Amino acid sequence: MLAEGRSAMSQSIVFVSTCPICKHEQPQDGFTVAALVRLLKGGHPIEAYCETCDEFWPVDLEKRVELGDVVAVVCGGTSPLTVANRPSQSPSEDMH
Ligand SMILES: [Zn+2]
Repeated sequence: MLAEGRSAMSQSIVFVSTCPICKHEQPQDGFTVAALVRLLKGGHPIEAYCETCDEFWPVDLEKRVELGDVVAVVCGGTSPLTVANRPSQSPSEDMH
C-alpha cells in the first residue's frame, strides 16, 4: 500500500497555512519532500502562498516542526523510532 522509499523524496507534501492578509487557510501543494528537507536543513524560510492575495509569507515555527515530522516519516518509513530513541533534553532547573 505504501509508496516505496526511493520515490519518497519526489512526493508532494500538501499542508495548509493561514494567509496573513485574508486570514484564510490556504492549501500549499508546491513543495516536494526534497524541497522541504532542503529548506528545513538549511534553515531557510518555507514560503506559503495565497492566490487570492498574491502574497507570500514564511510559515511559522510550529508548522516547520510539523513539516519536519512529516518528511522524517516519509523519508524514514512509517516507524517514528527517532522520537522513541531520542534522549530527553534535561529541562532547565532555574524556574526562579
Ligand atoms: Zn490571502
